[in-house]
This record gives sequence, C-alpha cells and structure tokens, in this order.
Amino acid sequence: MTIDLRTYQHSAINQVRAAYQARRRAVLLVAPTGSGKTVMFSYIASSAVDRGGRVLILAHRQELIRQTSRTLAAFDVAHGLILPGHPATEDAVQVASVQTVVRRLERLDWQPTLIVVDEAHHATRTTGHGRVLAHFDTARVLGVTATPQRLDGQGLGTVAGGFFESLVSGPTVQELVTAGYLSRPVVYAPPGAPDLSGVRRIGGDFAAGELAAVVDRPTITGNAVTHYARYCPGQPAIVFCASVAHAEHVAAAFSLAGYQAASIDGTMDDTTRAGRIADLGTGALQVLTSCEIISEGTDIPVVGAAVLLRPTQSLGLYLQQVGRALRPFPGKTHATILDHVGNCHRHGLPDDDRVWTLEGRKRRKADPAPDLAVKQCPACYTVHRPRPACPSCGFVYPASVRVVREVDGELAEIQRSAARDAAKREQKDAKTLEDLRRIGAARGYHPGWAERVHAARQGRQPMSRASQ
Ligand SMILES: [Zn+2]
Repeated sequence: MTIDLRTYQHSAINQVRAAYQARRRAVLLVAPTGSGKTVMFSYIASSAVDRGGRVLILAHRQELIRQTSRTLAAFDVAHGLILPGHPATEDAVQVASVQTVVRRLERLDWQPTLIVVDEAHHATRTTGHGRVLAHFDTARVLGVTATPQRLDGQGLGTVAGGFFESLVSGPTVQELVTAGYLSRPVVYAPPGAPDLSGVRRIGGDFAAGELAAVVDRPTITGNAVTHYARYCPGQPAIVFCASVAHAEHVAAAFSLAGYQAASIDGTMDDTTRAGRIADLGTGALQVLTSCEIISEGTDIPVVGAAVLLRPTQSLGLYLQQVGRALRPFPGKTHATILDHVGNCHRHGLPDDDRVWTLEGRKRRKADPAPDLAVKQCPACYTVHRPRPACPSCGFVYPASVRVVREVDGELAEIQRSAARDAAKREQKDAKTLEDLRRIGAARGYHPGWAERVHAARQGRQPMSRASQ
C-alpha cells in the first residue's frame, strides 16, 4: 500500500527535507495530536530506506511502539522490533524501545542513517535518548512531538541544551478542525475549581499526592457529574483523575447517577483494562475514569467528551487529555471539554494557535496570558476567545465586563457587574419621565428617583430628598 498523504503532511515533509538539505542534522517536526505524526515519519522512514538508508525509530512506551509497527505494516514497510523477547532482524527499519536500545548499544553492529524520536519532548541529554543519539552521532535525527518543550518549559533546541537545530511547524489544531480532521472543542469551565495555592510543585508539575487530596472531593466530583448530565449526557467520556482512588470515586459517583461508568489503572491485568476501553468504544460504558493518560495507542474516536479533574502545569499533558475527545466520528458535531480544575485558564484553549520555538515557549510581549486570552460566559460557563457574545448560548457581554476567571465568587461578581451595566443602559435609553418612572417602579426604587434623574437631565436642581 502506498502512503496517501494529506496536503499539510506533504508540505511538512517537504520542509523537513529542506532542513536536511540546508545541512541541519537534527530536525524537530511539531504537529498536534491527530495530525498523523506516525504516518508522516513512516513515510520519511520508508523514503530513506528506498534510498538505501537504515532507520531507527525510538519510542518510550510499548503502546507507541505497537502503533508505529502497525502503521509501518499497513504501508508494507518491513521492520524489526528492538524489544525484550524479540529476536534481532536484518530489516532496514527498526522500531525500538529506548531502554532496550540503551542496554544493547555496545552490542549493536548496525548504524542507522536516520533516527526518528517519537514524543521528542522526552529527548534530553540526560535520558536514554541522549545516550542513543550520542552513540550514533552521524545519523540524521527527526524528532516529532505535539508540544516541543520539556515540563519545565525549556525548549528542545541546541540553544536550550537540547538536540534539535531546526523546527518545522505542521498544521495548527484550528486548521485541522477546519479541514474536518479534528472535532471542534467546546470548553466549559463550571465554577468550583479547587484552590491549588497550597499544593507544592515537584519536577515542574503539581505534587501528585497533594493534588489528589485537593481534587478528590465530593463537591468537585458532584459538580462533574452534574455538568456532564447538563452538557453531554450519555456521551462517551473519559475523565482524567489525580490518583487511582480518585478515579474509582469518580466512577462510583457517575454510576450512582445512573451512568455506565468504570475506572482503569495500571494495576489491572491487560484483559480487564483493554475490555473496559473497548466497552467505551461500543457504548457498553459511557464514562471511563483514569489517573493515567489513556495513550495514543488506545484512541477511541467515538469519545466526545473529556472531563478534566486533574490540574496540571504541563501544557503537553493538558493537550493530550483534551486530544482524546477531538478525533472526528460520524455524527459528532463537537468535542465537549468539561474543565473543573482550571486547566484552560492555565494553558489557554485547546485550539489556540501556539507559537513554538526551539528555545522553549516564550510568551511574546503582545500575547496576553492564557487566562486573559479567553472569555468565560457567566450564563453557561463556556470558555472561548474574546468576542461580543457567547458562541454557545448567545449571552451578550456588556461592553465593560472584564475578562473572567473561573472562581465562583468572581463569576458572581461578573454577573453583578453585567447587571449593573445593563441597568445603566436601560436608564440611558429611557427618554421621558414616564419611561424613568416605569424603570424606577420595576426596580423598586424610591418614588422620587425618576423625577430626580429627569430634573438632572433638564439641568434643573433636583428636589431635595426631604421634599419628596
Ligand atoms: Zn454562554
């Protein structure tokens, strides 16, 4: 089978080639989840082999290795696997677990001409990737990732102590949505997000144990069930949790509310785990909860909702979680994202255009912080790009309302301020004393209010309160 490429895949691959022709050794291809990164690098690997090259594809998770192997097989690209328990083969393409290659480095009498690094944001000099790339220091390198930065925000370029010399930007999420390759994300952030000020940061993200203690609460869980029932009842949904126990509690709450729900975790045997994932695909389960990323190898396009109950400082993790719901599926009009933990305010909307560099994600001066680049509807909690009205429910923002955060009290404040502004407008539009009296009566104002306003407009001294 020949590899049928989409237009943007062609263009990305041509840019990668141009970078190598410009004598860059290590190129980083950035493209969102769902853009077909595996297809693109399989194509590049296959072309390299056609020209007599040898390709080593590195991945750090079993699911990704299996997924890559399946894609290569679909394209009739012969390949071997460098994995425990797999005998070595002579194939020109080898798909490898990083850890296994590291263990066999000294014994391998095989020199790749191209090394593909999947999920390249894990590739740093101190990880196994670093040892493999240093060992084969004449091979070209192609890194692929959706988020080209480490957890601490550092870039992956040589300028930031990483490997890559050139960055190629693939399509944006918005472009993929427009072209129909991804579903449009609609984000709701109902009030009640937990206060994380007391949670420590470890290794760039919230400390897992402390996080679970803050988010594993009946109020937050109840809120998630309520809003699932309101916005996407019965839709196949994945709920991202902060611990195994948290995932179990949340599944129990959804079950109690009458939904078919279950949790999965790493302690389960493969059959149970795979069975529950399959059940979500067939509709036997409506809600699947987990504290781990449900990996790319287990994509279930029918999933139309992602419920975020695990706050994260990692933009990559956030985008991966949301990405689980973005696969297109017949009849799916959009993907519902229920963010109960403030991730969209921390990182912006899933389909924001992001500017990536090899230095890391520096916010340009002109770019607002993520929570200022979004507006939140006080009526339905949709989080969206600033515009005069809510795209979900049509709520019209009074001109002076400031940008909203998700905190309950502030939402109430926004509603008050919206009401105040509406009241002022109504009053300004009231032309006659009669109109003003009607408004005053409707609002329960003092009987003299209309006369006072009217008199002030005529430039007369209003009567004193005492005389009214
Ligand atoms: Zn709305």
